[in-house]
Amino acid sequence: MPDVSVLTVGQAQRAVAPVLRGAGIDEPVLEARLLLGFVLGGGPERVLADRDEPLSADQARALADAVERRARRVPLSQIVGRREFWSLDFKVTADTLTPRADSETIVETALERAPGTPASVLDLGTGTGCLLLALLSEWKGASGVGVDASEDALAVARDNAAGLGLADRARFIRADWREPGWAARLGGPFDVVVSNPPYIPEADIAGLEPDVRDHEPRLALSGGADGLDAYRVLVRALAGLLRPGGLAVFEVGVAQADDVRALLTAAGMDGVQARADLGGVARAVSALAP
Ligand code: GLN
Repeated sequence: MPDVSVLTVGQAQRAVAPVLRGAGIDEPVLEARLLLGFVLGGGPERVLADRDEPLSADQARALADAVERRARRVPLSQIVGRREFWSLDFKVTADTLTPRADSETIVETALERAPGTPASVLDLGTGTGCLLLALLSEWKGASGVGVDASEDALAVARDNAAGLGLADRARFIRADWREPGWAARLGGPFDVVVSNPPYIPEADIAGLEPDVRDHEPRLALSGGADGLDAYRVLVRALAGLLRPGGLAVFEVGVAQADDVRALLTAAGMDGVQARADLGGVARAVSALAP
């Protein structure tokens, strides 16, 4: 990392980009601008506006630190501590999976298929709370429960609910579906159940991008030997969690839609469907309770 303490904002951006490129970052110029915008405090627009201003000593230190972390493939979202999802601003930490654009397909599917205007939503494996809170932002009269096995993730989700003005309609409960009796304390039945469970087959974890593999919570990624462990448990629990006619929507990984559809059909669910994300991957599998 070159000494950025004697540089202008524009020069710093040009100095940082090659460091990021050397670390294997796909879009080094864009990320250099985002990291500088974070350090300057005004976002990427500020980088352009201030390009001829010198960096202060504090800004130079903060930039060097941010670039060093990014070069170690700490996700950008964890460095800046935020990520946008469904046009809402979410806090992100190392204890939560970073919300991904693909997961907006789950929100779209829920909005489209939910019966009437739902009054209650359950999000299993809520992480940042992004699925639950996006839905509550759309269904103004609804309330919901977010469940996670990680207390640290639940603390982030609660912060996000408060930050988005949704705390009065969102409750967060610790439960671990790998333990017997996990579903009993959640209340319900619910009108809608959504989940982005861990679904990466254990053997594929080693081949993930280092940003994901080394820095995102393993608990949110690993779906067991074939990636489907969580679905087997969750699909079985739907009968007790959904009211008749209620909607379930699951995010699935690449090439998992048929398997998850089959699990839902075998569990007696109706109207089993898959919906593609913007990349053309069948991403949201949904079904209605009989
Ligand atoms: N979409 C994430 C990834 O592929 C995985 C999330 C999950 O297992 N639910 O990086």
